[in-house]
Amino acid sequence: MRLRNITGSREVIGESIYVVHEPEEAKGKWRELFGNGNELHIEIGMGKGQFIHALAAQNPDINYVGIEKYSSVLLRAIQKMEQEELPNLKFIRMDAEDIEKVFDTHEVDKIYLNFSDPWPKDRHAKRRLPSKEFLGRYDKILKPQGNLEFKTDNRPLFDFAVEQLPEAGWVADVITYDLHSDEKLMVGNIMTEYEEKFSSIGNPICKYIIHR
Ligand code: SAM
Repeated sequence: MRLRNITGSREVIGESIYVVHEPEEAKGKWRELFGNGNELHIEIGMGKGQFIHALAAQNPDINYVGIEKYSSVLLRAIQKMEQEELPNLKFIRMDAEDIEKVFDTHEVDKIYLNFSDPWPKDRHAKRRLPSKEFLGRYDKILKPQGNLEFKTDNRPLFDFAVEQLPEAGWVADVITYDLHSDEKLMVGNIMTEYEEKFSSIGNPICKYIIHR
């Protein structure tokens, strides 16, 4: 997903009004920042932002924050906002490892992970966004009644994610290994860029919805 060498992407991001530039200062104050008391939903590893942009457009009464590590990718999400501005969507460029520095205890109502990088080597398992280490971070920032939704076409990553749940103290409400064949679960499904790409070549899409 990394788009290399997009000249000036850091500069564009540095000046963008859609990006929260000092996100640690927003910790505990996200509702103030949006200027309302609405729920706060976040997507971690949003890529070019297709999913969260569509979701935010559909749900003007929910505040959304899209988190992306790389400037060159975030740039695409910013360009989308320039075409269709949404008051309830903001972006952060950061590594999600530091997520607890940016959101206060129980400040977030819902978390989305979509097509997270698989990090296939065992020694990199802790970097996987649905790992027990990351679930521990999400546990702190997510409201007690909040939930997390994860989609991927990567079966080994999904199997790993499901195995991590009991160890981390999470429970699955929904697990499917073929989302697109499940009429009920497909109601309101918003396709991510990777979901469009991989489902179009016949890969089944796995999804879980989990809570503690
Ligand atoms: N969610 C999008 C989709 O489904 O089309 C993009 C999927 S892409 C495979 C994964 C994205 O997650 C990349 O843009 C990557 O830079 C971002 N990412 C990976 N690890 C991250 C981390 N620790 N913090 C923030 N973003 C991360």
